[in-house]
Amino acid sequence: MIYFDYNATTKVSVEALAKMLEVYQLPLNSSAVHQLGRKGNQIVEEARKELKNLLGAKSYEVIFTSSATEATNTLIFGSKVNTILFTAIEHASVYECRPADKKIIEFNVLENGLVDVADLEQKLNALPDSNFLVSVMLANNETGAIQPIEQISKLVHQKGGLFHCDIVQAVGKLDIDLEKLNVDFASVSAHKINGPQGVGGLLIRKGLDVKPLIYGGKQEKSKRAGTTNVAGIAGFGEACKQAKTKMTNYENVKKLRNFLESEIKKIGGSEVRVFADQVERLPNTCYIALRNADSQTQLINFDLNGICVSSGPACSSGAATASRALKAMKVTPDFSASAIRVSLSADNTKEEIEKFIQVWGDFFQKTKI
Ligand code: PLP
Repeated sequence: MIYFDYNATTKVSVEALAKMLEVYQLPLNSSAVHQLGRKGNQIVEEARKELKNLLGAKSYEVIFTSSATEATNTLIFGSKVNTILFTAIEHASVYECRPADKKIIEFNVLENGLVDVADLEQKLNALPDSNFLVSVMLANNETGAIQPIEQISKLVHQKGGLFHCDIVQAVGKLDIDLEKLNVDFASVSAHKINGPQGVGGLLIRKGLDVKPLIYGGKQEKSKRAGTTNVAGIAGFGEACKQAKTKMTNYENVKKLRNFLESEIKKIGGSEVRVFADQVERLPNTCYIALRNADSQTQLINFDLNGICVSSGPACSSGAATASRALKAMKVTPDFSASAIRVSLSADNTKEEIEKFIQVWGDFFQKTKI
């Protein structure tokens, strides 16, 4: 089986799993006052340190949650702003977050996959006050396009607003310095970096406040009630440590991705499109379309040949609609309905890429006869 769907999820690393198994051996409730409680608390604090260390986030607080989705929901529903601005390329965890008491304004996306900063500026200028939040992801989960976050956070702050960045896909793949990006809030997820599913976090710049989404106990400084997932958080911390100390060789991953794209283009010529290939992208991500070749048919064909790819965001696969991101980039239906996402990791080999090219080429011959 060949796995090319690392933007959807990754497997838990040996190190993270070992750490979790160790923690699971003990009944650790990190809120308890006794010694096992204190041990649990120490494990959670170590993980918090590892996450902050990975992200260069000295002046941020971390609230651990069950997912990046929960982290973003906590911010958007819990923020005191009256207006929220984002684009259609945001992950569903941002895009579908529409509190009834806040005005949602969508701004434009350019055809190259980047958000339209000029349009954002115009829309910010038209606002009656500075009580707003802008949310832009660092790297898109479908195209991999890397957004100009420093420029956007500067603009937002000049206008007096707050800035949230979904950094889920960029963590571990790019060197991130949150202080430099100058964001106010960031959402992260463990399962994208070889940590466990069911663990995420919201980073909050010190001095800023967010109301909780979940009420109950006083866990996570009363920002997220519910018994702390000590083992899961420990696994996340270990995954962060690994990501920091064993920086994956993404140069090689990028070479494999570029080889795949150039070979497919050689075979398919003008029938092929690679999205966002004119801008800086995540080194592991390729979003590619074969004109008028339905995505689902391609996926099934790859699956029958033992290759796992996706047609875009995992949470919307199964839905027959074309990608919201591609629509926003004004991609015509002959290409948007025939897109597949290949997302690699350092575990993938040249042989696997060659197999993909062969299966793609056979499919192309069949469909074009
Ligand atoms: N944001 C982006 C860009 C993602 O790719 C994902 C997961 O696919 C999420 C947020 C949601 O993360 P989680 O699965 O932790 O809710």
